[in-house]
Amino acid sequence: MNTLFSFPSNWENIDHKHIWHPYSSMLNPLPTYPVSSAKGVYLQLANGQTLVDGMASWWSAIHGYQQPDLDQAILDQVSNMSHVMFGGLTHEPAIRLAQKLIAITCNKLQHVFFADSGSIAVEVAIKMALQYWHAQGKKEKNKLLTVRNGYHGDTFATMAVCDPVTGMHEKFTDTLSKHFFADAPSCQATNKGITTNIAALHTQLEQHQHTIAAIILEPIVQGAGGMRFYCPEYLQQLRQLCDDYHVLLIFDEIATGFGRTGTLFAYEQAGIEPDIMTIGKALTGGYMTLAATLASTQVAEGISTDGSGVLMHGPTFMANPLACSVANASIELLLTSPWQQRIQHIATQMEQGLAPCKQLSITQDLRVKGAIGVVELKNPVDMAWIQPRFVEQGVWIRPFGKLVYIMPPYIITNEELAHLTAAIVNVLQQMEALL
Ligand SMILES: *Cc1c(COP(=O)(O)O)cnc(C)c1O
Repeated sequence: MNTLFSFPSNWENIDHKHIWHPYSSMLNPLPTYPVSSAKGVYLQLANGQTLVDGMASWWSAIHGYQQPDLDQAILDQVSNMSHVMFGGLTHEPAIRLAQKLIAITCNKLQHVFFADSGSIAVEVAIKMALQYWHAQGKKEKNKLLTVRNGYHGDTFATMAVCDPVTGMHEKFTDTLSKHFFADAPSCQATNKGITTNIAALHTQLEQHQHTIAAIILEPIVQGAGGMRFYCPEYLQQLRQLCDDYHVLLIFDEIATGFGRTGTLFAYEQAGIEPDIMTIGKALTGGYMTLAATLASTQVAEGISTDGSGVLMHGPTFMANPLACSVANASIELLLTSPWQQRIQHIATQMEQGLAPCKQLSITQDLRVKGAIGVVELKNPVDMAWIQPRFVEQGVWIRPFGKLVYIMPPYIITNEELAHLTAAIVNVLQQMEALL
């Protein structure tokens, strides 16, 4: 069915002239594709075309679209209340969700702050770390240590810990707080390189421990800063360093949480526990914006011993009941599904399906981790050329920089996944032929 009629006739003009899309230009906007609906792993374009979604709406729609349980959870909640303020009031969806999050994460994490987006959850994590040391009488511990190639969000405190180059924020360098950076972990398939990596962190801590409040990084998979994978041993040694140098450890699991890397949370692969952790993206199965910051009792109680003893944060839409309800339904659905087998299966099939990319001269590296498949090219892609090619192939894949990657909904079938991998092989072959 052609549903374009329900868009204003000048929709394209309005979209291009008046609406900012992520990282877009008002003078030279790239084409946008009007979506009229989405179901399962398919995006329905207004011109009638359907696309297999390889992006899961930026890692979040793990169960696909129009999932009946998730739809129902929102409908049920709407008929109760869509929102109430969280200052002085509380509600069942938030209580149940906190209980779930505490149950499915490590023992250490016992306290939950509900934020309204991933960036805000990271802001809160940073605030917690700084407030914690402030309360311990160590105000000078107000810097962070992180690794290159990280991505933690687009707000000012989070931009300051994104990779200074790949983090998309170099224009703000002069405005941002200055933190400490070590080289990104380079141990990929094996733990080769780990000694150098850890030595780099060690040097920073040796020199700056008196001003470092916390180390923040994405465990196992660095997402939007480069789609890089690294070995769990790195995290084990990092945990030890944090203990030795009295520095808190913050894991940003916003991209990796809820099964994407093969374990429910990526840090589980290292068998260690963070002091603070952020989650977001797949928390609501991609239905609504919601994120959370979890903290240990040491951090939570530590903050509370200072002055007024309160954590200084409280967004208007904190713990939105619709978002909490759908998060509850999404976690329930995930945990009662054979998610581990599904992700293992997706990984195996992606490795096979993408293997022909290795033969191409334009390819730098092919890597798969859990339900994440990445083809790293030698040069950045031309988005104006490649995006329409993927749409022609009936898939929604949105590369960035040198990275062509997929992280589909976990419910994807063999045929649908084969469609995605074949489209990547096909489009990259076309690209190679143009050289
Ligand atoms: C996406 C992302 C964020 C930011 O989340 P938003 O909801 O976009 O603000 C932070 N950290 C990581 C690791 C992410 O992948």
